[in-house]
Amino acid sequence: MKVDSTNGQDNDVDILTAIENGLARDGGLYVPQTFPQFDSSAMETDNYAEFATQVLQPFFDTDIRSHCQRAFNFPIQLKRLNESSTMLELFHGPTAAFKDFGARFLAEVFDLMPKRRRTILVATSGDTGGAVAAAFEGHATQVAVLFPKNGVSALQEKQLTCWQGNIHSFRVDGNFDECQSLVKEAFQNDALRQQWGLTSANSINLGRLLPQSVYYAWAALRYQRQTNHAPSFVIPSGNMGNAVGCYWARAMGFPIDAIYLACNANKVVPEYLNAGTWNPRPSIKTEANAMDVGNPSNMARLRKLIPDLDTLRKRTQALSVDDTRIRQTIAATAKEMRYVCCPHTATAIHFRQQLPIENAIIVATAHPAKFEETVKPLVGDVTMPSSLANILTRPNHCTDITAHCDALFGHFKN
Ligand SMILES: *Cc1c(COP(=O)(O)O)cnc(C)c1O
Repeated sequence: MKVDSTNGQDNDVDILTAIENGLARDGGLYVPQTFPQFDSSAMETDNYAEFATQVLQPFFDTDIRSHCQRAFNFPIQLKRLNESSTMLELFHGPTAAFKDFGARFLAEVFDLMPKRRRTILVATSGDTGGAVAAAFEGHATQVAVLFPKNGVSALQEKQLTCWQGNIHSFRVDGNFDECQSLVKEAFQNDALRQQWGLTSANSINLGRLLPQSVYYAWAALRYQRQTNHAPSFVIPSGNMGNAVGCYWARAMGFPIDAIYLACNANKVVPEYLNAGTWNPRPSIKTEANAMDVGNPSNMARLRKLIPDLDTLRKRTQALSVDDTRIRQTIAATAKEMRYVCCPHTATAIHFRQQLPIENAIIVATAHPAKFEETVKPLVGDVTMPSSLANILTRPNHCTDITAHCDALFGHFKN
């Protein structure tokens, strides 16, 4: 399949080229030219990897079945808590957040590309680096994970430094912005880019977005078969990549009603939907830190799909949920529903409680044990899932570098 850029200058691009490029060459984001249409009544949902193969195959020219089987080799759960709450748990993968779906599929797609040296550079302060490192370990593509020396928690540092072989971790003497500048500098250096085959795996990559449609399609179909109703989804949102997956699943014909965007105190999207003004600004720190985004780039993809704001508003609402509410919701949900959620998921649970609708699925984006500092004081000990516990037993290693390109590539051996 061919894809276009949201900026309109880098169109008719082959999908594998688009995924290798990451960002479109005109600075826009790649989107599919058309969405395949599915007669979902004929589709079987018992085997998730098989279902994913059916949904994603039309986008690719080569057979992706074995790749889907390897990428989606962990559970996904649709859990009914009570009359009004059903959870879609996306955190049963190796790093216990939904980013495993996108990162693991992306790693498989890189294996479909013609062989040459490729090096993924990721600067991370949180979930993405761990998911990408875990996903690419053992694949042909090399990965350099950069993180700020004093900018990640002990648990996060463990998740960024416990990988082997083709995964290299660098602890940068600087803050997160300096890590990002280093990556930017490397990408702007043509000689380095060529020599190392530099590429990125950040959340705007189309190869991470497409598999995020599959779980919405899957959950909607299962829900509809159980209840005879097309569900709405309530989605914890930051950069909006997860939510765009839901819009794309609806565009493919899967039975999805409204889409509700739960944000933290970074309220650019709720303001846009409520007041019609688009006012991006620097992000502020919140308890739901994977959603601390002040200029959500995937909004460009949503605008491309639904250009008219009034049309968008017909079946979408957004709500900003502050830290106080997030903490209240974590505590109340544990007490009243015996369900412990992470701070991101709490925004969606709170939003759902404000909505006078039936048939809503709440998306649970991370396991609460990943956010122990917030969750433990509110509800007590949270049991670690075995995937995370396994990560913690692996040996750690990383290279300390200064925040300069030369330092990075000087230490980076093949
Ligand atoms: C990345 C992330 C989000 C936000 O997803 P977007 O695609 O950026 O909207 C929400 N929750 C968790 C746990 C995350 O890791």
